[in-house]
Amino acid sequence: MAVEEARQGQPDPNHLQVKRLNRRWGAVKLPKFGWVRFRWTRPLGGTVRNATVLRDGGRWYIAFCVEDGLPEAAPNGQPPVGVDRGVVNAVTCSDGWAKDRELVTPGEAKRLRRLQQQLARQKKGSKRRAVTKAKLARLNARIRNRRNDLCVWVANRLTRRHGLVVVEDLNIKDMTAFAKGTIEAPGRQVRQKAGLNRAILNKGWSRLVLALEHAGRYHGCSVVMVNPAYTSQTCSACGHCASENRESQAVFRCVACGQLDHADVNAAKNILAAGLAVTGRGDLAGRRSVKRQPPVTEVG
Ligand SMILES: [Zn+2]
Repeated sequence: MAVEEARQGQPDPNHLQVKRLNRRWGAVKLPKFGWVRFRWTRPLGGTVRNATVLRDGGRWYIAFCVEDGLPEAAPNGQPPVGVDRGVVNAVTCSDGWAKDRELVTPGEAKRLRRLQQQLARQKKGSKRRAVTKAKLARLNARIRNRRNDLCVWVANRLTRRHGLVVVEDLNIKDMTAFAKGTIEAPGRQVRQKAGLNRAILNKGWSRLVLALEHAGRYHGCSVVMVNPAYTSQTCSACGHCASENRESQAVFRCVACGQLDHADVNAAKNILAAGLAVTGRGDLAGRRSVKRQPPVTEVG
C-alpha cells in the first residue's frame, strides 16, 4: 500500500498570514507559493503557529497548528473504563459498550485486491501503473478517513464519559500469538471480516490512542496503556487464567468459577483492572466494584 504523502513544514510564523475570503474559502500566504486558497472547514480556534501542507490520495490538505491558550481541563471525576480491541467489534468497553463500523465494504475489498494485482503486473515507471497507483491511493485514503472518523468519534465519547481510559499497549503485545488463534472464529465470513478489520484496526490503534490523549486533554480524562498479555484468557471475576476459558470467539466461560461473560467485555475488564493497578487506584481493583456492574449494551 503506497501512502503518498508529501509533507512540507512551514515553520516560520512570520510568513504565515491567514485570511478568510468568505464562508467556504480561506487563503494562506505560504513562503515561495504566495496566496493559496483552501476550503475553510472548521474554526481556527487560536493563533496560528505553523501549517503543514500534505497530499493524500491525490488531494491536497493544509493543517494549522494553533495555540489555543486553554489550560488543561481538571479531572472530570467520571468512572474509569477499560477498552479492548475486538475482532468483531472494533472497540469493546469494560462496561459492555461496544462500537463497530464497517471500514471496508465488500465491494471496496474486492476492488482493493484487483488493483493490487494489477499493480503487480504492470511495468515499473509506466503510465498505466501510475494510474493504478493513483486509484489505490484514493481508495486507501477513503478507508483511512473512515477509520480516523471512527477513532475521533470513539475518543470523544469515551473521554467525556470517563475520567480514566485504559487501553492495550500494542508495542508489548505478541501479535503472532494473537493471530495464531487464541481466538477461534466460528464462520468463514466472520474470519474474513475479522482478518481485514483487524489488519486495519491494528494500524488504527495508535491513531485511537492519540485521539484519546488529545480529547482527554479537553475533557479532563487521562489515558493509561497496559500490557495486554492474557487479558483474553483470564477470568475477570476470579483471576483464573486458562485458554479453555475462551469458549468461542464471543463467549467467555470460566472453567474455575463458572463466570459467563462476553469475551471482549471480559478482556476489557482485565485491561481496566491492570490500569487501576498501575495508576494506584488499586482500591477499586481490589473491591472489584467496577467489574460487577452488569453489562449495559448501547447502540450508537
Ligand atoms: Zn473465574
